Amino acid sequence: MGESRFDRLFIGGEWVEPIDGGLRGSIDPATGEPWGEVAFGGKADIDRAVTAAREAFEGPWRKMPGWERAALLRKFADLYATKVEALAQIESRDNGRAIRESRGDIGLHAQYYHWFASLTDKLSGRTIPMDDSVHAFTSRLPAGVIGTITPWNVPLMAAAWKLGPALAAGCTVVLKPAEHTPASSLALGRIFEEAGFPPGVVNIVPGDGPVAGAHLVAHPGVDKIAFTGEGATAKTILKTGADTLKRFSFELGGKAPHIIFDDANIEQALNAATGSAWALCGQSCALGSRILVERSIYDRVVKEFRERASRVKVGMPLDPAIHMGPQAHQDQLDKTLSYIGIGRDEGADLVAGGSRIDNTDLQGGYFVEPTVFSNVVPNMRIAQEEIFGPVASIIPFEGEEEAVAIANGTPYGLAAGLWTNDVGRAHRVAAQIEAGIVWVNTYRYIRWSTPYGGFKTSGWGRENGLEALDSYLETRTTIVSTTGQFPDPFVG
Ligand code: NDP
Repeated sequence: MGESRFDRLFIGGEWVEPIDGGLRGSIDPATGEPWGEVAFGGKADIDRAVTAAREAFEGPWRKMPGWERAALLRKFADLYATKVEALAQIESRDNGRAIRESRGDIGLHAQYYHWFASLTDKLSGRTIPMDDSVHAFTSRLPAGVIGTITPWNVPLMAAAWKLGPALAAGCTVVLKPAEHTPASSLALGRIFEEAGFPPGVVNIVPGDGPVAGAHLVAHPGVDKIAFTGEGATAKTILKTGADTLKRFSFELGGKAPHIIFDDANIEQALNAATGSAWALCGQSCALGSRILVERSIYDRVVKEFRERASRVKVGMPLDPAIHMGPQAHQDQLDKTLSYIGIGRDEGADLVAGGSRIDNTDLQGGYFVEPTVFSNVVPNMRIAQEEIFGPVASIIPFEGEEEAVAIANGTPYGLAAGLWTNDVGRAHRVAAQIEAGIVWVNTYRYIRWSTPYGGFKTSGWGRENGLEALDSYLETRTTIVSTTGQFPDPFVG
């Protein structure tokens, strides 16, 4: 399988043609034209991928000592590190992310795999004190075959966050990437192959969510679904998976508040707030899409946002000089433009951007201007709903109480940021935020070791950190009698 060939599925350690899927052109969002032929799997392809994963689980993988699994995962991670540039080019081509961002993100992934590799032989249980008549202990066992379903904004990152802990736990995997961005996930298969993973431990089947994805979710041979995507899809998945009562973990959307108090270092806060408003062209769950600004510094912050929006270089994703590429697909472009219309209709002030960029150089691509709304009211739809485009909504507030109320006033609870130089305030406010992660005087800084996931409708469970392993493990409690005596209950 060559570097840029994606016309086969990776199942049972082999590159195979789809049985009931087919080939499809993957669209380059910077041109609107197909850039590569990708294999899509159907239900029969999911069936054979699950069979391969089950055989690998029952066969070599589950029985392999942890330190051997660790060695393979480390080999994979080292190979991954040598392929960062190639993977970044594929991902930027497929989802339009600026190459400077793809390089930075993908450049970290090897360390995620290394970190989880280091845990493979440390999955120990506990001895439970009961009484002298028994010896009780727990064992940590792999959950089984994992169906991983990933989104289009960060396909390789979402894969790393799931495959790292799943493989470390001793599970096997069927990975179904998003239909808009399947190429980089298929490229992963080549690295697993080169690293010498046993056939079937990792299987990669691009396909349509309602067909291949739903079949994976309903499949009785799958023990758990690890999903990143929209809440509405998660609800459908729960219903589809209900009959088999499998396990689920969900990383869902966000509408993160980025709170700036007037005692903060405003310059640093602006760097973080503007950076996170427009990174990934706004297509990330953790971006601070609601900027909450204390009234006394509100006008200054709005002015700075407008000025910095004009400095964002929007252009072809593979150009290392550009900051922001296009939206990843036509539907997302339409969604973003529609929300910009909603913001105008709701009466927010459009202070920067607001339009599609369709000039000669960028014609046909799904480009949109970095956009800023000021005087946004917390209950406006642009302040409540996830847009997933480069649209910053700046909301004024007075004092801590109002800041916290606005921050917590959406159904989401994934991430939040706050800027203040008052250490007491930092702790006071952070402790009241309903979100899985709160950054103080920094933003979007995470590592393999930091648990990540949502409160409220932003998800179930945590990825990364020691917590991530839990969701790929079952606990068995064993209680052994030290006497072998069991009283006859029917005497007397
Ligand atoms: P979707 O929910 O639309 O899709 C996610 C995945 O689910 C895709 O692979 C999709 O396939 C698949 N899918 C769709 N329908 C079904 C179904 N019925 N059964 C099984 N699988 C299905 O999300 P997006 O791809 O649009 O991703 C954007 C969303 O992801 C945003 O809401 C964002 O907030 C969230 N996200 C959350 C993160 C977090 O860590 N909390 C990180 C990154 C993104 P197909 O592509 O064919 O539709």
